[in-house]
Amino acid sequence: MGQELSPSPRALIVELCRHFYAQGWVSGTGGGISIRQDGRVYMAPSGVQKERIAEADLYVLDEAGAVLETPSTAGLAPSACSPLFFNAFRLRDAGAVIHSHAMEAMLATLLFRDSFECTQLEMIKGIAGHGYHDRLIVPIIENTAHECDLADSMAEAIKAHPRSHAVLVRRHGVYIWGKDWVQAKTHAECYHYLFDAAVRMHQLGMHAAEADKPSLEAVGGTRR
Ligand SMILES: [Zn+2]
Repeated sequence: MGQELSPSPRALIVELCRHFYAQGWVSGTGGGISIRQDGRVYMAPSGVQKERIAEADLYVLDEAGAVLETPSTAGLAPSACSPLFFNAFRLRDAGAVIHSHAMEAMLATLLFRDSFECTQLEMIKGIAGHGYHDRLIVPIIENTAHECDLADSMAEAIKAHPRSHAVLVRRHGVYIWGKDWVQAKTHAECYHYLFDAAVRMHQLGMHAAEADKPSLEAVGGTRR
Protein backbone atom coordinates (compact mmCIF):
# COMPACT_ATOMS: atom_id res chain seq x y z
CA MET A 1 0.00 0.00 0.00
CA GLY A 2 1.76 3.14 -1.18
CA GLN A 3 1.11 6.44 0.52
CA GLU A 4 -0.14 9.12 -1.84
CA LEU A 5 2.39 11.92 -2.20
CA SER A 6 0.92 15.37 -1.77
CA PRO A 7 1.63 17.71 -4.71
CA SER A 8 4.57 20.12 -4.38
CA PRO A 9 3.75 23.74 -3.47
CA ARG A 10 4.87 24.77 -6.98
CA ALA A 11 2.51 22.29 -8.66
CA LEU A 12 -0.32 23.29 -6.32
CA ILE A 13 0.03 27.03 -7.00
CA VAL A 14 -0.04 26.46 -10.77
CA GLU A 15 -3.08 24.17 -10.50
CA LEU A 16 -4.98 26.37 -8.02
CA CYS A 17 -4.35 29.58 -10.02
CA ARG A 18 -6.04 27.96 -13.04
CA HIS A 19 -8.91 26.82 -10.85
CA PHE A 20 -9.28 30.25 -9.19
CA TYR A 21 -9.16 31.96 -12.60
CA ALA A 22 -12.14 29.84 -13.67
CA GLN A 23 -13.97 31.05 -10.51
CA GLY A 24 -13.34 34.70 -11.46
CA TRP A 25 -11.08 35.26 -8.44
CA VAL A 26 -7.77 36.08 -10.22
CA SER A 27 -8.72 37.61 -13.57
CA GLY A 28 -6.88 40.50 -15.23
CA THR A 29 -3.58 39.40 -13.56
CA GLY A 30 -4.99 40.38 -10.13
CA GLY A 31 -5.16 38.16 -7.08
CA GLY A 32 -3.19 35.01 -6.41
CA ILE A 33 -2.12 32.46 -3.83
CA SER A 34 0.93 31.93 -1.65
CA ILE A 35 1.82 28.71 0.18
CA ARG A 36 4.16 28.43 3.21
CA GLN A 37 5.68 25.00 3.73
CA ASP A 38 8.81 23.75 5.53
CA GLY A 39 10.09 27.27 6.21
CA ARG A 40 9.72 28.36 2.58
CA VAL A 41 7.14 30.69 1.04
CA TYR A 42 6.06 30.12 -2.58
CA MET A 43 4.30 32.83 -4.62
CA ALA A 44 3.59 33.86 -8.20
CA PRO A 45 5.28 36.94 -9.74
CA SER A 46 3.49 40.30 -9.93
CA GLY A 47 1.29 41.30 -12.87
CA VAL A 48 1.23 38.00 -14.76
CA GLN A 49 -1.75 36.08 -16.10
CA LYS A 50 -2.29 33.73 -13.19
CA GLU A 51 -3.97 31.00 -15.24
CA ARG A 52 -0.87 30.68 -17.48
CA ILE A 53 1.97 30.56 -14.94
CA ALA A 54 4.37 27.61 -14.91
CA GLU A 55 6.10 26.04 -11.91
CA ALA A 56 9.40 27.69 -12.97
CA ASP A 57 7.77 31.17 -12.83
CA LEU A 58 7.39 31.15 -9.03
CA TYR A 59 9.40 32.99 -6.38
CA VAL A 60 10.55 31.19 -3.25
CA LEU A 61 11.22 33.29 -0.12
CA ASP A 62 12.33 32.42 3.39
CA GLU A 63 10.11 33.21 6.38
CA ALA A 64 11.89 36.55 6.85
CA GLY A 65 10.91 37.57 3.30
CA ALA A 66 14.34 37.17 1.67
CA VAL A 67 14.25 35.77 -1.89
CA LEU A 68 15.76 32.26 -2.08
CA GLU A 69 14.84 31.34 -5.67
CA THR A 70 13.87 33.55 -8.62
CA PRO A 71 11.90 32.53 -11.74
CA SER A 72 13.85 31.17 -14.69
CA THR A 73 11.83 33.52 -16.93
CA ALA A 74 13.42 37.00 -17.28
CA GLY A 75 11.60 40.25 -16.57
CA LEU A 76 9.45 39.12 -13.65
CA ALA A 77 9.04 40.90 -10.30
CA PRO A 78 7.97 39.52 -6.90
CA SER A 79 4.26 39.73 -6.10
CA ALA A 80 2.98 43.12 -4.96
CA CYS A 81 0.92 41.14 -2.44
CA SER A 82 3.99 39.79 -0.66
CA PRO A 83 3.70 41.98 2.51
CA LEU A 84 -0.03 41.12 2.69
CA PHE A 85 0.59 37.38 2.44
CA PHE A 86 3.28 37.68 5.13
CA ASN A 87 0.80 39.39 7.47
CA ALA A 88 -1.26 36.18 7.59
CA PHE A 89 1.83 33.95 7.82
CA ARG A 90 3.30 35.94 10.74
CA LEU A 91 0.20 37.04 12.66
CA ARG A 92 -1.95 33.90 12.11
CA ASP A 93 0.61 31.19 11.42
CA ALA A 94 -1.19 30.60 8.10
CA GLY A 95 0.00 27.87 5.74
CA ALA A 96 -1.60 29.44 2.68
CA VAL A 97 -3.17 32.78 1.70
CA ILE A 98 -5.51 33.44 -1.23
CA HIS A 99 -6.01 36.95 -2.64
CA SER A 100 -9.20 37.30 -4.70
CA HIS A 101 -10.57 40.09 -6.88
CA ALA A 102 -13.94 38.33 -7.14
CA MET A 103 -16.92 40.54 -8.00
CA GLU A 104 -18.94 39.24 -5.02
CA ALA A 105 -16.13 40.16 -2.58
CA MET A 106 -15.82 43.65 -4.07
CA LEU A 107 -19.61 44.21 -4.00
CA ALA A 108 -19.83 42.96 -0.40
CA THR A 109 -17.50 45.80 0.68
CA LEU A 110 -20.08 48.30 -0.64
CA LEU A 111 -22.91 46.87 1.48
CA PHE A 112 -21.18 47.31 4.86
CA ARG A 113 -19.19 50.10 6.53
CA ASP A 114 -16.56 48.67 8.93
CA SER A 115 -17.10 44.95 8.64
CA PHE A 116 -19.04 42.37 6.63
CA GLU A 117 -21.55 40.53 8.81
CA CYS A 118 -23.87 37.59 8.31
CA THR A 119 -25.59 34.96 10.43
CA GLN A 120 -27.64 31.76 10.12
CA LEU A 121 -26.32 30.61 6.77
CA GLU A 122 -25.14 27.00 6.54
CA MET A 123 -21.83 27.86 4.86
CA ILE A 124 -20.71 29.82 7.96
CA LYS A 125 -19.91 26.37 9.42
CA GLY A 126 -17.16 26.00 6.81
CA ILE A 127 -15.15 28.77 8.51
CA ALA A 128 -13.01 27.33 11.34
CA GLY A 129 -14.33 28.21 14.82
CA HIS A 130 -17.81 29.19 13.62
CA GLY A 131 -21.27 27.65 13.97
CA TYR A 132 -24.55 28.21 12.17
CA HIS A 133 -25.93 30.62 14.78
CA ASP A 134 -22.71 32.65 15.07
CA ARG A 135 -22.34 36.12 13.64
CA LEU A 136 -19.57 35.87 11.06
CA ILE A 137 -17.57 39.10 10.88
CA VAL A 138 -14.94 40.05 8.28
CA PRO A 139 -13.19 43.42 8.76
CA ILE A 140 -13.13 45.82 5.79
CA ILE A 141 -10.09 48.06 5.24
CA GLU A 142 -9.94 51.01 2.83
CA ASN A 143 -8.14 50.51 -0.48
CA THR A 144 -4.90 52.31 -1.34
CA ALA A 145 -3.41 53.32 -4.70
CA HIS A 146 -0.63 50.74 -4.27
CA GLU A 147 -1.29 47.23 -2.97
CA CYS A 148 1.78 47.16 -0.68
CA ASP A 149 0.40 50.19 1.24
CA LEU A 150 -2.41 47.97 2.57
CA ALA A 151 0.00 46.06 4.82
CA ASP A 152 -0.31 48.15 8.02
CA SER A 153 -4.10 48.52 8.01
CA MET A 154 -4.47 44.82 7.17
CA ALA A 155 -2.24 43.90 10.13
CA GLU A 156 -4.35 46.12 12.45
CA ALA A 157 -7.55 44.50 11.18
CA ILE A 158 -6.14 40.99 11.71
CA LYS A 159 -5.15 41.82 15.31
CA ALA A 160 -8.54 43.44 16.04
CA HIS A 161 -10.51 40.43 14.69
CA PRO A 162 -8.83 37.27 16.03
CA ARG A 163 -11.73 35.03 14.91
CA SER A 164 -11.64 36.12 11.27
CA HIS A 165 -9.72 34.19 8.62
CA ALA A 166 -10.15 36.98 6.07
CA VAL A 167 -9.80 40.73 5.52
CA LEU A 168 -11.88 42.51 2.85
CA VAL A 169 -10.44 45.50 0.95
CA ARG A 170 -13.00 48.15 -0.11
CA ARG A 171 -13.71 48.27 -3.87
CA HIS A 172 -10.88 45.77 -4.37
CA GLY A 173 -11.26 42.20 -3.07
CA VAL A 174 -10.31 39.97 -0.15
CA TYR A 175 -7.41 38.15 1.53
CA ILE A 176 -8.33 34.72 2.94
CA TRP A 177 -6.07 32.25 4.73
CA GLY A 178 -6.02 28.85 6.43
CA LYS A 179 -3.63 26.63 8.39
CA ASP A 180 -2.76 24.89 5.09
CA TRP A 181 -3.77 25.19 1.42
CA VAL A 182 -6.73 22.81 1.91
CA GLN A 183 -8.23 24.92 4.70
CA ALA A 184 -7.44 28.16 2.84
CA LYS A 185 -9.29 26.86 -0.24
CA THR A 186 -12.26 25.70 1.87
CA HIS A 187 -12.38 29.07 3.64
CA ALA A 188 -12.17 30.91 0.31
CA GLU A 189 -15.06 28.91 -1.14
CA CYS A 190 -17.23 29.49 1.94
CA TYR A 191 -16.42 33.21 2.24
CA HIS A 192 -17.11 33.79 -1.47
CA TYR A 193 -20.44 31.96 -1.11
CA LEU A 194 -21.37 34.16 1.89
CA PHE A 195 -20.34 37.39 0.12
CA ASP A 196 -22.44 36.35 -2.89
CA ALA A 197 -25.36 35.41 -0.62
CA ALA A 198 -25.26 38.82 1.11
CA VAL A 199 -25.23 40.66 -2.22
CA ARG A 200 -28.16 38.61 -3.56
CA MET A 201 -30.10 38.94 -0.28
CA HIS A 202 -29.66 42.72 -0.50
CA GLN A 203 -31.04 42.65 -4.04
CA LEU A 204 -34.08 40.80 -2.65
CA GLY A 205 -34.60 43.38 0.09
CA MET A 206 -33.13 41.17 2.86
CA HIS A 207 -30.09 41.68 5.03
CA ALA A 208 -27.54 38.91 5.65
CA ALA A 209 -26.85 40.16 9.19
CA GLU A 210 -30.56 40.08 10.19
CA ALA A 211 -31.86 36.54 10.36
CA ASP A 212 -34.75 37.42 12.71
CA LYS A 213 -36.63 39.29 10.02
CA PRO A 214 -38.95 36.83 8.25
CA SER A 215 -37.69 36.66 4.71
CA LEU A 216 -41.10 36.63 3.03
CA GLU A 217 -42.12 39.79 4.90
CA ALA A 218 -38.83 41.37 3.97
CA VAL A 219 -39.58 40.95 0.27
CA GLY A 220 -43.23 41.96 0.72
CA GLY A 221 -44.63 38.46 0.40
CA THR A 222 -47.23 36.74 2.55
CA ARG A 223 -46.86 33.98 5.16
CA ARG A 224 -49.45 31.34 5.90
ZN1 LIG B 1 -5.36 42.91 -5.32
